[in-house]
Amino acid sequence: MADTSRRDLLVAGSAAAAAAIMTDTPPAAAQAGPAPIFAVPATTIPIAGEQGVFPVRRIYCIGRNYAAHAIERGSDPNREPPFFFQKPTDAIQNVAVGEVADHPYPSLTKNYHHEVELVAALKSGGTNIPVDSALDHVYGYALGLDMTRRDLQNGMAAEKKPWEIGKSFDHAAVIGPIHPVSKVGHFTKGAISLAVNGTVRQNSDLTKMIWSVAEQIAKLSEAFELKAGDIIYSGTPENVGPVVKGDVLLCKLEGLPDMSIKIV
Ligand code: MN
Repeated sequence: MADTSRRDLLVAGSAAAAAAIMTDTPPAAAQAGPAPIFAVPATTIPIAGEQGVFPVRRIYCIGRNYAAHAIERGSDPNREPPFFFQKPTDAIQNVAVGEVADHPYPSLTKNYHHEVELVAALKSGGTNIPVDSALDHVYGYALGLDMTRRDLQNGMAAEKKPWEIGKSFDHAAVIGPIHPVSKVGHFTKGAISLAVNGTVRQNSDLTKMIWSVAEQIAKLSEAFELKAGDIIYSGTPENVGPVVKGDVLLCKLEGLPDMSIKIV
């Protein structure tokens, strides 16, 4: 194939891809034009009591959202605005109710930490969402673990480099099934805890979050256009700490079923 025609094909392919993004509707396979050369699996989360599953678009996480955890991580909870990071969508590890799911100890770290968190799952979004209407965008809630390679996170932070490698890796976003707001309501209070091998390590209440889920949605939507399928890990309380192979973690959130994993 001559270089010219090859370039023409590439340009045509880019235009088709751009059109697909603009219209935001039918899957590529349903459209005329270039087809994907292989399939990439979609990431979904089961929904309690529903046949359908929740498709994940983006995973956002808020940092240092409980005062006591902010202090243990070295910041002043009274002065600092909320900050966010993302995990890759396919970092999701689904954990069924009643299961103790095997969770692989990741590579590179010698200080692997648990962070138990409430997760909000969005059915819609927007930009500059007011706090007053922010919860209207929440489809449901789940119990989650923002697993963290703490030594790598701290090492990168010390060098003022992005701490992606400490937070964004395979299986780093552990989550239970999503429970629709229509059945469980909104979570603005309630006990949240994590035990390792039967010993409680983290134990707090959602009322101690510095920024509520509604405020998190409002703040996030100033920086990003939120959309259906986005999920938000809403921060962890104090007493994060290390786990090792063989440890069994039990997460509890008042109003939702427990979630459990075993580090393998
Ligand atoms: Mn976290």
